[in-house]
Amino acid sequence: MGKYLVKFNRDKCKGCELCVSFCPKKILEIDKVDMNAKGYHPANVKPGQMDECIGCLSCALMCPDNVISVYELSGDEK
Ligand code: SF4
Ligand code: SF4
Repeated sequence: MGKYLVKFNRDKCKGCELCVSFCPKKILEIDKVDMNAKGYHPANVKPGQMDECIGCLSCALMCPDNVISVYELSGDEK
């Protein structure tokens, strides 16, 4: 079991792919199927890949729209 949980405020995402590019573990992707409320294809953690997250916060720091929150599984926001 992984140590971190990465959450996306899906409807705020613009699908710019910055987080996808900067994740050192390459576990993020753009949802090519579903659109969010703004009409963009939003970013997601790839299915089954959450356990690979190392909690580096790169995704959350790079996101220009503050879409991403990274939590330690103890429950505290990192
Ligand atoms: S915290 Fe780091 S390893 Fe985890 S999804 Fe974000 S960029 Fe990737
Ligand atoms: S960096 Fe932010 S706005 Fe851009 S795709 Fe990732 S979550 Fe969406």
